[in-house]
Amino acid sequence: MNRLVFATHNDNKVKEVKAILPPEIDLVSLTDIECHEDIPETASTLEGNALLKATFVKEKYNLDCFADDTGLEIEALDNEPGVYSARYAGPERNAHLNMDLVLHKLQSHPNRKARFVTSIVLLHQGKQYTFTGICNGKITQKKSGTQGFGYDPIFQPEGYDKTFAELSIEEKNKISHRGKAFTQLIEFIKNTIS
Ligand code: IMP
Repeated sequence: MNRLVFATHNDNKVKEVKAILPPEIDLVSLTDIECHEDIPETASTLEGNALLKATFVKEKYNLDCFADDTGLEIEALDNEPGVYSARYAGPERNAHLNMDLVLHKLQSHPNRKARFVTSIVLLHQGKQYTFTGICNGKITQKKSGTQGFGYDPIFQPEGYDKTFAELSIEEKNKISHRGKAFTQLIEFIKNTIS
């Protein structure tokens, strides 16, 4: 199939997605196409933000493209941080400060239920497609583990006694929000596009 741009600057995400992509898909990142701009993510929903990013690349570079946006939704915090997950504790987007703020807000709250949601928007040959992946779990009392990124050290997926940060990238991909959303994207590409 044709070259496809993944509209992200995040190397961790590119690494995760490449691990589950079939080799015939020529995935390129924003860095590969020399797009160094900070694409605005000002929508009020995850899908809206993914669409903003994909549209930016499509309009500026005229390349087929997909973008994702992920949020951590914590039930006891009215689904915060949600669309603000990256900058929950401030514009510096510091993962440890973000986790500290979550743990501080939750204190010893008995309801630790949380979920990660990933929304992917694909723009291909003038059409728009959306894929959603969800991973249910809970927020732990403290940080554990060193793998992954973001909120991984405080998120324990359902059915596991380890946090995402204590799982390998392969284990995380099998059950994660992004893994599930990208599995749908890849199935769609295999069946419909390539
Ligand atoms: P993005 O839309 O994928 O950039 O995600 C927004 C923010 O959500 C990130 O900056 C992280 O704080 C958080 N996040 C996204 N995916 C994950 C994940 O797999 N584990 C932990 N945190 C994540």
